[in-house]
Amino acid sequence: MKGFRLFRVLGIQISLNYTWFIVFGLIAWSLASSYFPSQYPGLSRSAHWTMGFLAAVFLFLSVLAHEITHSYIAKREGIEVKEITLFIFGGVSQLSKEPEDPKKEFKVAIGGPISSLILALIFWVLSKATSQAPNLILFTGLLGYLAFINLSLAIFNLIPGFPLDGGRVLRAIYWSKTGSLRRATMIATDTGKWIGVGIILLGLFWVLTGNLLGGFWFVIIGIFLRSAAEGGYQQVVMKGALEGVKVKGLMSREVISVPPSLSIHRLVEDFFLTHKHVTYPVTENERIVGIITLKQVKEIPRDQWVEKMVKEVMVPIREEIMLDPEGEAVDALQKMIRTGEGRLPVVKDGKAVGMITRKDILNLLEIKTDLAA
Ligand SMILES: [Zn+2]
Repeated sequence: MKGFRLFRVLGIQISLNYTWFIVFGLIAWSLASSYFPSQYPGLSRSAHWTMGFLAAVFLFLSVLAHEITHSYIAKREGIEVKEITLFIFGGVSQLSKEPEDPKKEFKVAIGGPISSLILALIFWVLSKATSQAPNLILFTGLLGYLAFINLSLAIFNLIPGFPLDGGRVLRAIYWSKTGSLRRATMIATDTGKWIGVGIILLGLFWVLTGNLLGGFWFVIIGIFLRSAAEGGYQQVVMKGALEGVKVKGLMSREVISVPPSLSIHRLVEDFFLTHKHVTYPVTENERIVGIITLKQVKEIPRDQWVEKMVKEVMVPIREEIMLDPEGEAVDALQKMIRTGEGRLPVVKDGKAVGMITRKDILNLLEIKTDLAA
């Protein structure tokens, strides 16, 4: 999931999905223009806007606290966490691997909702405490809203459909009962899909009976849950099939590389049209310095092909566009999806030792899942 990098907590990169900016604005606006004015009509317009803005900021921090709790427990259980991405309905903690046993899965999954429940309780107590002082009414309203929002976060995430926390808890329970991660995932994702359908139908019913906004939100949440459940199952099947498959076992060792001072004209004639690959590593003194793809060449006007050189157009080599021969094929595939590159160089000690394509990985995946079915 693409995101906007914010800061690091406990060594974990925190990123924001772009949808968050829209949601942030919508939440602040709807609270400031309708919710707080109706609840606290005595306050000024600027007080309503301050409350709306602060509520949106604290909502963000509440979701963050929920995700950090998942990540903290995962780390304590020996699972590396790379990134937390906050998006429209919550967050996604990118664990480096799935928990190896149901107990760990249960602990990691239940932590988030528990932290939200604790926050709800704290905000509720604070809101009750400030309600005695009339000059603190702004805070009472804000704290009350935050208590409600954290309770909602806990309840929404406890819906027993994978990949929501409740679905993971359900999966952990089935997993420990049946011993099969694949079957447990199937049950938890199926539940998720059906709950998604239920929420969509409820939303449609509300839309038809006049509650347009609430109904509309439910339809969106239902659709989100359904597609997340679908994707979650595929990911588990994929991870299972590619378990232990290394990049070096799938890459082609035939590396056709390009010198940086080659003209684009010669690159097209002697490489793209001759070898018919769409990506080449660019190497200088046997070391890889970048990659050149058809995409970059297409952006150069044809009349500049003779004068422009590969090194002016190539993508300089960096961690995101190269693979380790000892790396997992699943991670390679995820890197390709993230960068949008279908073919990446495999690099060892600064040298390109192989090339791997998305097709290499997907073919193996298809064969393995066909055999398993
Ligand atoms: Zn969660």
